Amino acid sequence: MSAKSTKRKVAILGGGPSGLFMFKRLVESGLKNLEIEIFERKAHLGSGMPYSPEGAEIEHITNVSDNEIPVIFNSIEDWIKIAPKETLEKFDIDSAKFNEYKVLPRLFFGEYLSAQFELLIKQAESKSIVTKVHLNTTITDVVDNRKIKKVSVQINEKEELLFDEIIICIGHNWPKKYEGKIPNYFDSPYPPKKLASRCNYPIALKGSSLTAVDAIRTLARNNGSFTHKADGTYSFKLDAKSDKFKIMMHSRNGLLPAIRFHLEDSHLGKDSTLSKTQIQKTIKENGGFISLDFVFEKNFKDQFKEKEPKFYERIKDMNLETFVNAMMDYREKLPPFDLFKKEYAEAEKSIEKRESIYWKEVLAVLSFAMNYPAKYLPAEDMQRLQKVLMPLISIVIAFVPQSSCRDLMALHDAGVLDIVSVGDDSTVEPDPKGGATYHYEDENGKQIAKSYKMFVDCVGQPHLSFEDFPFPGLIDNGTISPARLQFKDVKKGKEAFDEKNKLVEKDSKGGYSLRVPGITINDYFQVIDENGNANDRIYILAVPYIGGYNPDYSGIDFSEAASEQVIKKLTA
Ligand SMILES: Cc1cc2nc3c(=O)[nH]c(=O)nc-3n(C[C@H](O)[C@H](O)[C@H](O)COP(=O)(O)OP(=O)(O)OC[C@H]3O[C@@H](n4cnc5c(N)ncnc54)[C@H](O)[C@@H]3O)c2cc1C
Repeated sequence: MSAKSTKRKVAILGGGPSGLFMFKRLVESGLKNLEIEIFERKAHLGSGMPYSPEGAEIEHITNVSDNEIPVIFNSIEDWIKIAPKETLEKFDIDSAKFNEYKVLPRLFFGEYLSAQFELLIKQAESKSIVTKVHLNTTITDVVDNRKIKKVSVQINEKEELLFDEIIICIGHNWPKKYEGKIPNYFDSPYPPKKLASRCNYPIALKGSSLTAVDAIRTLARNNGSFTHKADGTYSFKLDAKSDKFKIMMHSRNGLLPAIRFHLEDSHLGKDSTLSKTQIQKTIKENGGFISLDFVFEKNFKDQFKEKEPKFYERIKDMNLETFVNAMMDYREKLPPFDLFKKEYAEAEKSIEKRESIYWKEVLAVLSFAMNYPAKYLPAEDMQRLQKVLMPLISIVIAFVPQSSCRDLMALHDAGVLDIVSVGDDSTVEPDPKGGATYHYEDENGKQIAKSYKMFVDCVGQPHLSFEDFPFPGLIDNGTISPARLQFKDVKKGKEAFDEKNKLVEKDSKGGYSLRVPGITINDYFQVIDENGNANDRIYILAVPYIGGYNPDYSGIDFSEAASEQVIKKLTA
């Protein structure tokens, strides 16, 4: 056999942040005879969706700072010492004044990620790892060939290449339902360029989290201007031509997201959560399940015993439901923008003193720590997780950076930004002439139907279903399967089934399961086939397609942690 044919060929499909972390892991793996091919739809590597013009304009910022980003090749602080001058000038970055605790313009972060890719490619070269980069190349299908133990990857609907292993890192996908068919109806605010126009009318946003903040930053700057005065005040003034411009956010509970505070180290606490060995032991002892209450006790409440005994006293007798209710009650007591201002002051103090707000940090850790056990939760606990914990996590985990907070407060003070609570049953009716009508019940039980000339759906990346999977070859051959969770309590499963819950299925052994979004994966992010077998050749790190078994979208954190699991298996 020639030396060439003994090469282990690994393909990374998608060259965004997850592809970058995967590449780093491979380069550092020590694997011999490696040949890596990277396929990227766009003309450059690294920036992916959020850090390129597909997801950002100059006004958009990251929600993490250098000190929270795992080192890829070098830190941002080190990289800016060698970064092109034009790049630093373009983003007004002064290397002498760089502060590792500050968030960054997303497009600048994208440039950093691209540069990291280039540096890693050089490192690979020095280790005799062959790297082939295919830019402007879209993967259109993937087929697993069990007989020859290779994966066939189709490029631009034509050429097919064979690999020993592939890692799917194709990332974000924002399906369009009405956008393009209905004027001024947007299924997402991305790319934000499409919102950069004069809008002399009220606009409805669905959602109030970071995705809404992205839309607000772009819309506001195209219809008015912000002024920073010497006395420290920050205000917004509408352009004369936009005097009817107004943004109304619609959210289920009328709450604004939490504000970024000082985070010493985003990994803080992650090591003190349950280890995989402990989790596996519990699963074995509990008939293949881990309970949400157990994870809540061990990964959340127990963390406060030593570090925050006062907070522990307050919550020690609470279960998940009572804890979430207490937190929500506290937040709901004040009008949303008053609470926002109060939390802003609290966060400023935390930043000034460089002290974290511990319980918020631990909640973020809990959300992260839910990922691994999620696929072992009984279906009834997953329903509780989705219904009870996720609404709180989505508020507390989406930390709004300070400069975005100042924008929101200035816009609210100028009377052009507000939020309304629409409950769980609101609907949005697209208007064929443009925009949409929002239907909901107000706090007094009155039915409201309000029309807007523009509507932007800002709920964030949707969890995509099995049927949305972009590579039909993997569906048709049964290489991938829909993610399901078994009901532990058969009675509860039967009840849900009898209530005609479309997501509940009955199996041949009389058990019941709940369909959760996306495809089935194991702990190593390998795809699982219809018969429950893990595939040794195909791995997936694209979060929209694995949302059921991996319910938390921690971005850069996720890319780092998940790529570590993949490399463990590849090097085993
Ligand atoms: C608006 C927004 C802002 C965010 N901000 C932050 C933040 O500040 N901090 C943080 O930690 N996380 C943030 N996130 C989370 C985010 O998920 C990750 O940071 C990151 O984008 C995940 O990288 P990825 O490579 O998995 O996906 P993506 O960034 O989507 O990258 C996927 C790559 O694959 C390519 N691709 C897709 N399909 C194909 C195909 N068929 N063939 C070839 N190539 C393909 C795409 O062109 C892209 O380059 C943000 C997310 C969004 C949506």
